[in-house]
Amino acid sequence: MPSTPNPPSILAIVVPCYNEEAMLGITVPGLLNALDGMIESGLCAMQSYIVLVDDGSRDATWHLIEDAATRYPGRVRGVRLASNVGHQAALLSGLDYATGRCDAAVSIDADLQDDVTVIARMIEAYHCGAQMVLGVRECRATDSWFKRNTAEGFYRLMGAMGVEMTHNHADFRLMSDRVLRNLREFSEINLFLRGLPRLLHKEVVTVSYRRAERVAGETKYPLRKMLALAWNGITSFSVVPLRMISVMGALVFLVSLVLSAYALFGFLSGSTLPGWASVVIPLYLLGGLLMLSIGVVGEYVGKVFLETKRRPRFLVDQIVGDPDD
Ligand code: UDP
Ligand code: MG
Repeated sequence: MPSTPNPPSILAIVVPCYNEEAMLGITVPGLLNALDGMIESGLCAMQSYIVLVDDGSRDATWHLIEDAATRYPGRVRGVRLASNVGHQAALLSGLDYATGRCDAAVSIDADLQDDVTVIARMIEAYHCGAQMVLGVRECRATDSWFKRNTAEGFYRLMGAMGVEMTHNHADFRLMSDRVLRNLREFSEINLFLRGLPRLLHKEVVTVSYRRAERVAGETKYPLRKMLALAWNGITSFSVVPLRMISVMGALVFLVSLVLSAYALFGFLSGSTLPGWASVVIPLYLLGGLLMLSIGVVGEYVGKVFLETKRRPRFLVDQIVGDPDD
């Protein structure tokens, strides 16, 4: 048994919720149960609590959060965002709320696909000194063939682009208050939390668990959003695509120099034919290459555009259940 600190640490469990009315009736008791168990065994303090972030839901999610906050004062708190900002920014707003109000925060999805009993192991690691603990899925048996393979491809691609990511880790993680404070220093709009752990702390501890299937409601991550997340991950963390364009441009330039010399030599020796192919093929090739390059450069210019606007990443509309209010 690791030594438990005295007084025990306050834990905040941060849960982003988007149209989760079908899940919340299961999620809130499930998480409170888990908290009670950890309080009983002395792993965390009585004042530990859950933060439910309503990410601009269109269903009864916020009403359910308000109800839970009234029923469990101080233990269940709600942050209502003014609009739907997506999973990562919603999670960030919950972590932002918890910063300075806890000793450690655990983020978990509202569908409880991630095993809540693992939180206790995360806190044990925290008590042993870990500042950042990542939940890692043992296997992806509960995923579809498609999701499994696209996820694997994504990690490979990110690795090739020089972004160090922990395989099979989503957003189930514990961060200490120290790490949370440092997280606030990352002010970029396109924040990709999953790529950050190794930047936030050099020592990252992992705990493995089995992921269950969603018991109610449906996934809020259709393929479109998954692709958007992957693309955001690459372009927010890596300039390798830009560098590839430069390298490709340099190679094409070299080849065209050789070809020009060849053409000039042919012209001077009087052996040139009025060739159509030799004009049209490079035209096509270069046209395609240029458009591709401009497209990728444009992506980054777009990012710069968004960053320079310095827009807030989320807007809090209302907070309920905060005992300090
Ligand atoms: N979510 C959110 N905003 C969104 C989409 C999703 O806060 O725009 C939340 C959602 O309520 C859930 C978590 O993000 O708690 C993960 O979503 P989901 O379980 O649908 O994703 P999957 O597990 O299928 O990848
Ligand atoms: Mg899920």
